[in-house]
Amino acid sequence: MDLLERAVEGEFLSAEEIVSLYGLPLAEVAAAAHQARLRRTPADTVTYLIDRNINYTNVCTVACNFCAFYRTKRQADAYVLTYEEIGHKVEELMQVGGRRILMQGGVNPGLPLEWYVGLLRYLKTHYPEVRIDAFSPEEILGLEKLTGRTARDLLVELKEAGLDGLPGAGGEILVDEVRAKAAPARIKSSDWFRILDTAQALGLYTIATMVIGFGETYLQRAQHLLALRQQQEKALRGYGAGFASMAMWTLQTEHTRLKGKAPGASAHEYLQQLAIARLALPNIANFQASWPSMGFKVAQAALYYGANDFGSTMLEENVVSVAAGHTRTNATLKQILRHISDAGFVPAERDPYYNILHYPDVNAVLNEPAALPMA
Ligand code: SF4
Repeated sequence: MDLLERAVEGEFLSAEEIVSLYGLPLAEVAAAAHQARLRRTPADTVTYLIDRNINYTNVCTVACNFCAFYRTKRQADAYVLTYEEIGHKVEELMQVGGRRILMQGGVNPGLPLEWYVGLLRYLKTHYPEVRIDAFSPEEILGLEKLTGRTARDLLVELKEAGLDGLPGAGGEILVDEVRAKAAPARIKSSDWFRILDTAQALGLYTIATMVIGFGETYLQRAQHLLALRQQQEKALRGYGAGFASMAMWTLQTEHTRLKGKAPGASAHEYLQQLAIARLALPNIANFQASWPSMGFKVAQAALYYGANDFGSTMLEENVVSVAAGHTRTNATLKQILRHISDAGFVPAERDPYYNILHYPDVNAVLNEPAALPMA
């Protein structure tokens, strides 16, 4: 069996074998990735999620060079949303049928642990049917430093207050040499895995992430994928569940200090990397296409390069879009259904765990009068 056939079968490839995939014709790698995707997820279906991003504060002390979102606490446009403002955003989500928020912010030492616990309790009291996937390993590390308590201790308390999941943001490339250049104060890869592992052990929902375009080598990308694969094996065997999906996008530098200093990645590289990630991670079933960073057309193509999911409505994404300098911060349900259908698949609404909730009547939705405002 050749390398691509073994990858489609789900064999774990070595770092050298993963690196060699970059030298193969993209059409062959894409075909293999699509085959691998068809074996692991419903063939005709592409899923999507109705949810909302909420960035509760933009104050951050980490100061990543690739981030145009953060502010110091003294800047005029620094903010912390009130519980009521966040609640209002949740209500807007519920008006369009969404029942999940993805809530993240900067590392803001002005917010004590009690603020986070109080926020989760407030949201679960007022909106008990809405699930809360919130905070990144970086934010939990910030709370460790602030309180002197362990991630386990903190996550137990946050879970009791209503936290349902800890998204895997901040993964980028989990090789410290790459991270040190892009963001010297950024969470180290060992801490990222330590905190995600703790979350998985506690039964919190997590996803794996990857960002390319820092100037990382193919070997460093392979090392990132192997580290994710190893963690997924540990979680599946030890805790019964691991990363629900893999989300990948390209570095956006337009309004950041990395502009002109990091190469970024083209649509071709994005699609190649997506296909290789699908082949290198046979133990992660679901892969998202990234329309916020790549646009809808490339996201449609991604559905033939290993992706089986079109991501979410997001309603209000601020971090990637601000760095990219564009305003595509939400997608209406109509846009998502149209793009999935036009790409040749049947759209299905899912929950965060990729359970299919229902197959909407696409024609009926597309012919509806203008939808509610989405942000
Ligand atoms: S990427 Fe996150 S941790 Fe880094 S500066 Fe921006 S908000 Fe802070």
